[in-house]
Amino acid sequence: MTTLDDPGRLLAVWEAAAAAPPAARGPVLLHAAGLLPDLDAALDLPVGTVAALAARLSVDSFGDPVDAVLTCGCGEVLDVALPLDPVAGLPAGDAGAVAGGTLRVRAPTARDLLAAGRSGDPLGTLLARCVRDADGRPVAPGELTADQRRAVDTAAEELAGAAAVVLRTRCPGCGDGVVATLDVAELLWERVVRRAPAVLAEVAALAAAYGWAEADILALPAGRRRVYLALATGRAA
Ligand SMILES: [Zn+2]
Repeated sequence: MTTLDDPGRLLAVWEAAAAAPPAARGPVLLHAAGLLPDLDAALDLPVGTVAALAARLSVDSFGDPVDAVLTCGCGEVLDVALPLDPVAGLPAGDAGAVAGGTLRVRAPTARDLLAAGRSGDPLGTLLARCVRDADGRPVAPGELTADQRRAVDTAAEELAGAAAVVLRTRCPGCGDGVVATLDVAELLWERVVRRAPAVLAEVAALAAAYGWAEADILALPAGRRRVYLALATGRAA
């Protein structure tokens, strides 16, 4: 089981993912964690596959559920305990689906999202990359009829899997329903960002107390690190 319990791995993940554009953060994070050995291949995985792996790593490293914060239209801030274990088990559609009988749609990848982000027409770029006609040729978004566009949207939703988890809850303030799309990789990234300063503070405390090098401190078994830290700070282990 791969987790981010190892402090050296957590810091490596934190550094790699901080430097990545948001659209590629999931694959970069999973690669740095050691879950996906080939970064190029990771960027070509369907976003749903990446999201399901991110949910699994999040649960295994930080526990379940995760605390998510939503803001209602009325301004009320809602704290929601969100179970990620079911998300980790969602099947990812990567085989492509038939839309409207004549079109094939494949799930977008991080590379598709990066290309869309760089273009002046993100949606058109995504459609051009992910939709093919019956002969396997790209379809210009302008050529799609309204019915075909609806069929493509439906197929894309089915293919998204864990990348399109929707959270529905009720606002205790105004009573309205609140619907939010969940970015599992981003939630995992936030957990890494919250944990990293504590790891660095532990390394700094041990380095100051004993004069050890960072690499040696990160290589300490967890139990020994905890006891040395307690001795250095005068707190019980
Ligand atoms: Zn509200």
